[in-house]
Amino acid sequence: MTYLNHITEAIGNTPLVKLNNVTDGVKATILAKVEYMNPGNSVKDRMAIRMIEDAEKAGILKPGGTIIEGTSGNTGMGLALAAIAKGYKCIFTLADKQSKEKMDILRAVGAEVRVCPTNVAPDHPDSYYSVAKRLNEEIPNSFYPNQYDNLSNWRAHYESTGPEIWEQSAGKITHFVTGVGTGGTVTGISRYLKERKPELITVGIDTYGSVFKKYKETGIFDENEIYSYATEGIGEDILPKNVDFDVIDTFLKVTDKDGAVMTRRLAKEEGLFVGWSSGTAVYGALEYARENNLTEQDVMVVLLPDHGTRYLGKIYNDEWMRAQGYID
Ligand code: PMP
Repeated sequence: MTYLNHITEAIGNTPLVKLNNVTDGVKATILAKVEYMNPGNSVKDRMAIRMIEDAEKAGILKPGGTIIEGTSGNTGMGLALAAIAKGYKCIFTLADKQSKEKMDILRAVGAEVRVCPTNVAPDHPDSYYSVAKRLNEEIPNSFYPNQYDNLSNWRAHYESTGPEIWEQSAGKITHFVTGVGTGGTVTGISRYLKERKPELITVGIDTYGSVFKKYKETGIFDENEIYSYATEGIGEDILPKNVDFDVIDTFLKVTDKDGAVMTRRLAKEEGLFVGWSSGTAVYGALEYARENNLTEQDVMVVLLPDHGTRYLGKIYNDEWMRAQGYID
């Protein structure tokens, strides 16, 4: 018999898939790392299980404990699967801009979900960061992983996603592109790849309304850069400890609309039924490849973080797309 003892053992070893039809005008080979193939359908499974196992080893998370986290949904799903495997309870705080599907999915796997307002400052008592922190103080035997500053986050990618991309591309990768939220994905993978190939270029994808690009270019945390935007999972109004700006060569901002339209193209033209930030990352990757005249010798890997089911009511809903002005 060949079986796993728990679904969490299926995390990782996701496929690398060539993009064939959305790459007009691009000479480089563009390969997509398809992270929705993880059991929780996102890249965040990898760091969720790692944060829990590291906390267990450090004695911070004890039997019967409650895991409390502020999440845009995907980390919650990874934590919930790990919690089921290991017998913990979960409470998640989400900003109300996150899709309804994400909240339903988290409830389906047994988590308690608290919905918090999106348009408040991170230090406001009602923000999803603050509510998670407060619950952690109030509930005995609870653990607050804090994915933004918990360094198990980038280490998970340094030890799994990075080596997978290196091996699958036979070391031929020249450019790595990924969206940046907590920064764990970009930092872990880029650090691993640059240790093997220092000339590799890493492009971080940012949103309009987020602080990363300006901070990289000027070293200034500019509050004027912060305003609300719709793309889920990337861009921040804080500087998480998991973002190492030294392993990101440049940032590129992509609009909500360009990301959304490319997401639909990936589903229709590549058969990749992905989430919004995947379209955002691919749009930015192709723009970079065109503007920098990448050649046939270049191999660009772009990471696709999550699955399209989480956006059925938004990106894959024509009426919603029209109401946003994203399609005619
Ligand atoms: N895309 C989606 C849909 C996400 O949920 C996240 C996690 N916030 C990211 C991209 C960014 O990944 P990271 O937090 O590792 O920077």
